[in-house]
Amino acid sequence: MKKNIILLSLMILPWLAQAQYNRCGIKLPSKAVLDKIKHKHSHSHDHMHSFRSVDEAANYISRIVDQVPDWEQNFVVQERNGINNAYAHISRGRRTITYDNIFVESLDFQAGTKWASISVLAHEVGHHYYDHVLDRRGSTPPKEIEADYFSGYVLAKMGASLNEAKAAMAKLASPYGSSTHPARNQRLAAIEKGWRDAKPRKKSTMISGNYYSQQKDIQYVQVQQRSSNTIVATWVFDNGQKSSANLQYKRNAYNGAKVYAANYMRNTRRVELYFFKDGRIRERDIDLKTRRDYWYNFSKH
Ligand SMILES: [Zn+2]
Repeated sequence: MKKNIILLSLMILPWLAQAQYNRCGIKLPSKAVLDKIKHKHSHSHDHMHSFRSVDEAANYISRIVDQVPDWEQNFVVQERNGINNAYAHISRGRRTITYDNIFVESLDFQAGTKWASISVLAHEVGHHYYDHVLDRRGSTPPKEIEADYFSGYVLAKMGASLNEAKAAMAKLASPYGSSTHPARNQRLAAIEKGWRDAKPRKKSTMISGNYYSQQKDIQYVQVQQRSSNTIVATWVFDNGQKSSANLQYKRNAYNGAKVYAANYMRNTRRVELYFFKDGRIRERDIDLKTRRDYWYNFSKH
């Protein structure tokens, strides 16, 4: 009899050890994890680390929807205990997100952060945002990538760090792709792209804009930053004519100003634009033969 039990264990163990994934490619919690969470619920009044039922998930979901201002929630939320899952679907003709409280809590438990459950809920919201469930054909890798992108975008808006936004997928996505979901690396890249797109752009384009010039006959000067060391400046004359120059960033900037310079008029003249940290811009026009220079002040439109 003892022998049989050992034999049975050897047959069952590999099967138990093999991870199971839900329709979104997220690893389902093992029985051991579920038992731990249920145990915690029955033995502790400390709810600090527990996911408090319907209102908290629904609360998260409404905060997720709030991050997309031009979109109104188009689905209902329902809790179903014991399904060990969370997913977006059509139920009785209505768009729905159905989740199991213990499953959602297990995400945080396994990934070690509250953002895990928020990111998985955001992923499910993303399926409704992109109308993925309407064809009733289930998951495909492109759908999952879009929902992951949405999750990264929303989590950035809600204040998660990049690692927090990735935590659930890093820990719980299948490393391999399949016909229904992409490989973990692609999913993490999609989350990262969404997260970065949600962040405001860096100030590198701040130089770009239209500037008034004191120069005679000049209406204004258009400045476009092309790269970290190149700008294109276009002088727009009163009569509508334009003259453009590619100016290169000059090292050893002057008095804290960024200086871009270019020669013109067959290298007989040189123009330098000085962008000061306080927002002032000055133009210096140099006659390279006589070394005489003329200074003009610019102000931004
Ligand atoms: Zn999904």
